[in-house]
Amino acid sequence: ILLQYVLPLFVIVTAIAAFLLVATFRRMQKMTISLIDKEREASFLANFDPLSSLPNRRLFMQHFNKLLAPHLIDSNPAMVAFCDIDNFKTVNDTWGHEVGDVLIKTVAKRLRNGFPDSVLVSRFGGDEFALVHAEKWLSVEDFGNRIQRAFAEPFDLAGKPSRIGVSVGIAIAPDHGRASSELLRNADIGLYEAKDGGRA
Ligand code: GH3
Ligand code: MG
Repeated sequence: ILLQYVLPLFVIVTAIAAFLLVATFRRMQKMTISLIDKEREASFLANFDPLSSLPNRRLFMQHFNKLLAPHLIDSNPAMVAFCDIDNFKTVNDTWGHEVGDVLIKTVAKRLRNGFPDSVLVSRFGGDEFALVHAEKWLSVEDFGNRIQRAFAEPFDLAGKPSRIGVSVGIAIAPDHGRASSELLRNADIGLYEAKDGGRA
C-alpha cells in the first residue's frame, strides 16, 4: 500500500506544493521589482524635470542650501545665476510648443555641458534656468560669459538655424545676501534689469 498509493501521492503533493511555492515566489519578485520601479519613477519626478532631465526647483533649492552653507562660514564667494530665454513665447507661437520643448532640451544640454559637474544646473521652471557656482576657479564675468556662450551657436528650430538670446542675473554670496531666498531675489532683480537693458 505504501509503495502503490502513499508514496506516489506524497510525490504528487510535494511537486504541486513546490510548483505553487516557486510560482508565488516569482510573483512576489515581479511585484517587488515593479514597486521599486514605481518608487524610482516617483522619486525622479519629484526631483527632476522630465523634459530636460535637469534637477527641478525643489532639488535645486536643497542643493543650493547645501552648497551655500560653507561659504557663509568662510566668506568665499558663491554665485547664483538666473537665466531666462529671450522671446521664448515667439518660438512657441511661430513654430509650435513641440519645437519650444526641443529648444528647452537643447538649452539644458548646452548649459549642462558648458560647466563641470560641480556647478549646479537646474531648470527652475518654464524657460528659466538657475545655476550655482560655488568653486573658486571662475570670476563673475566668466560665469556670465560661459552662460552666454551656450547661446552663441544658432539653434535648430524646425530645421531652420535661429539665433536665440538669453538674459542673465547673477547674485554673489555673501555680498548680495546670506539666505538662499535673498540671493535668488537679487539674481531675479539682476535678470529683470538685463531684460530691461534689451533682449538679443
Ligand atoms: P521674455 O523675453 O521676457 O523672457 O519673454 P518670453 O517670450 O521668453 O516669455 P516668458 O519668459 O515671460 O515666458 C515663458 C513662456 O514659456 C511662458 C510659457 O508659455 C512657455 N513655457 C513654459 N514652460 C514651457 C514648456 O515646458 N514648453 C514650452 N514649449 N513652452 C513653455
Ligand atoms: Mg523668457
